[in-house]
Amino acid sequence: MNGVGNVKHCGVGNLRTIKHRNRYIVLSTLLREGPLTKAQIASQTNLTFATVANIISEFESKQLVCELGRVASQGGRKATLYGINRNVQCFVGVDVQIEKIICAITNFGGDILETLVTPFDVSRGPLESIQCVRTMIDTLTTNLGISLENIGGIGISTPGPIDAEHGIILSPPNMSGWVNVPFREVMEREFSIPCFLERDANAAALGEKEFGAGRGIEHLVYVMVDVGIGLGIIINNDIYYGFNNGAGEIGHVVMELDGPRCNCGNNGCLEAVASGYALQRLFRDRFSDPMTLEKLISISKQGTNEAQKLLIQAGHYLGLAVANLCNLLNPQMVVFGGSLALGSDIYFEQILSTARKHILPMYLHQIRFERAELGQMSGVIGAASIAFKNSICSLS
Ligand SMILES: [Zn+2]
Repeated sequence: MNGVGNVKHCGVGNLRTIKHRNRYIVLSTLLREGPLTKAQIASQTNLTFATVANIISEFESKQLVCELGRVASQGGRKATLYGINRNVQCFVGVDVQIEKIICAITNFGGDILETLVTPFDVSRGPLESIQCVRTMIDTLTTNLGISLENIGGIGISTPGPIDAEHGIILSPPNMSGWVNVPFREVMEREFSIPCFLERDANAAALGEKEFGAGRGIEHLVYVMVDVGIGLGIIINNDIYYGFNNGAGEIGHVVMELDGPRCNCGNNGCLEAVASGYALQRLFRDRFSDPMTLEKLISISKQGTNEAQKLLIQAGHYLGLAVANLCNLLNPQMVVFGGSLALGSDIYFEQILSTARKHILPMYLHQIRFERAELGQMSGVIGAASIAFKNSICSLS
């Protein structure tokens, strides 16, 4: 495939021109609501009929949309219905986590065609991880009977911090040996396909917004609670990055001035009192028992015990942070993902119960709290949709 080096990363939240943004709005409306007539698209998107007609004609010439029948319209004339041409291209999502890699291939409509989960210790380093991704993508394409030529882009979700614009993984605290890794460039060299990098919580937030619990929601926050705690913020349908791409570090808001030491060097951060890592440390300190997070959650389900008490205390801290977040950003929806939020009802219920006590009453009733509908697939689906979104940017 030509032109890999010429494709700019347009940043998920940064569809840079009005033209790109309008294209994306039309495509995502067709994805969500199609098939639709041009007039229906114009009315749903607030774009003019002429703008919609131009975009549809451009998409038709590139075979991205197709005619899907006709309906009666005003004046008795029949209007053409348009829909996404789902089979025109595929996209790959890759979710690099601390202990596993997830890959998925979607069609142009965002439907998942096939997924693969491979246990992988991220401390084995970038090169081995790319070889693992290579094997996984080869397996997926072989299973689907497609070639790399059919793939329009690869979106990659990784723990942060990252430099999304330049595709560099900076130095994630739980990924020793990964410092300033130009992951996107190495992936593009390996596959000769445009690749795009995104921080894991942002990718998961986007996955839930486009295909999960947050469909149609404009203002959404995604709280990822696993070994660490991450946050993806979507405002006005776009990921909010902050000035230096540093937005979303909720794990390091301070909950206890003299609290336990955090991996970041400060004391009493949310991640030091409410994350899976914090729970494991607390359990180990009190009972000299090195416990996996999975086992700790499983013990907490066997009646009242210390594991349960620790989960309630941790859930309380996260509930306070979520209340602060809601009072600050006024989202329509808070989506909770990650193994701790999805795996422990006690923890999840405590988050909601504490948060509800501290969110301003006038806004509380309008905020929806949901668990991630896509489960552990939020990140990989979000990553694939980032590749899709960027491919709209790269249309000439
Ligand atoms: Zn910290």
